[in-house]
Amino acid sequence: MRTGQWLTGRDRRRWFFDSGSLALDFGYTGDYGYGVAEWERLHAPADLSAWLTERFGPLAAPANEADLTEAFRLRAVIARMARALADGRPLATEDIDELNGLATPPPVVPHLAGGTTPPPRVAVTAALSTIARDAIATFATGSSRVRRCSAGDCALIFYDASRPNARRWCSMQRCGNRSKVRGYRSRHSQEEA
Ligand SMILES: [Zn+2]
Repeated sequence: MRTGQWLTGRDRRRWFFDSGSLALDFGYTGDYGYGVAEWERLHAPADLSAWLTERFGPLAAPANEADLTEAFRLRAVIARMARALADGRPLATEDIDELNGLATPPPVVPHLAGGTTPPPRVAVTAALSTIARDAIATFATGSSRVRRCSAGDCALIFYDASRPNARRWCSMQRCGNRSKVRGYRSRHSQEEA
């Protein structure tokens, strides 16, 4: 499954952030526990339906209020665990138990295209279970692959699954280039000094 989604920055510009993980992407539908109301993207069950449909295809039934409550539980535990790993703190036992519990419902059934049967429609509970299972796989790798962007003023967390494990930026276009410009300026001012 492809990861990443469009976010809106403080400057109101939209930019594409690929967290590298379905679970971390889902975390970024909210404020990651920082208490910033504007970052909320799931205002109603219909917003959850839209987000899940983009990734899993047509749903068996639209999300309801109970699904949204469950989604918020999952999102909150993902945010807490991602922040713990990114900050080098141990994962809380209660969070591990909660995540394991959220992953117990049957997940989305895989479907190979090209047969005669259409892909089964996806239940919201199955989609949330699949996200929880992705979180387990992501967090099982530990803090060596769950990191924050290297820009000092950027708190975004990503999962680096690449073999060199050398990703530094939330996005090259956003923080990577800013850092290059700053590096150029500081080298330049040192030369002039
Ligand atoms: Zn960044």
